[in-house]
Amino acid sequence: MTNFLEIFKEVGVIREGHFELTSGLHSGIYFEKFRLLEHPEITTLICKEIAERFKSDDFSTVAGPTTGGIIIAYELARQLGKRCIFAEKSEEGREFKRGFEIKSGERILIVDDIFTTGGSIRDTISAVKRKAGVVIGVGVIVDRSEQTIEFGVPFFSVYKASVKNWKPSECPLCKEGIELSKPGGRR
Ligand SMILES: [Zn+2]
Repeated sequence: MTNFLEIFKEVGVIREGHFELTSGLHSGIYFEKFRLLEHPEITTLICKEIAERFKSDDFSTVAGPTTGGIIIAYELARQLGKRCIFAEKSEEGREFKRGFEIKSGERILIVDDIFTTGGSIRDTISAVKRKAGVVIGVGVIVDRSEQTIEFGVPFFSVYKASVKNWKPSECPLCKEGIELSKPGGRR
């Protein structure tokens, strides 16, 4: 069994400090997914875990939300011989642009990198449903959510992280006056 926590530490995926996550929550731990995704050989290894979980399921397409989700979806599709599409931000949350078609009843696996509140996944599921596609499962690399979020389909995470996330109003690091950083691609 591969020790993914060791790998994450080694390549610098896990950062400690005071962070505002994409979800708006605050935390003392940040998973910098691009420290992982910049290493294709490690990303391939980790995606293999998701592939193993869903390889016997009946689906033809893998879909992910931008940005990291594109890489995961592409690698999964490559490993399993499926098609890869991705959902971009839009007025409705997310939608499939670039002329991506989904046939009515098309069976789709949804994947993403870091799972916190499930917002990106939920928006991608909605985008699939608006095109009359069928979501057969959700696979992520790191699940850092605190509550179980039910999508009504099988959910799999390669690594379940037990870390605290707080609403800004309840964040102890804010109360201590520790400087807040906003990592990721925003600004
Ligand atoms: Zn805070």
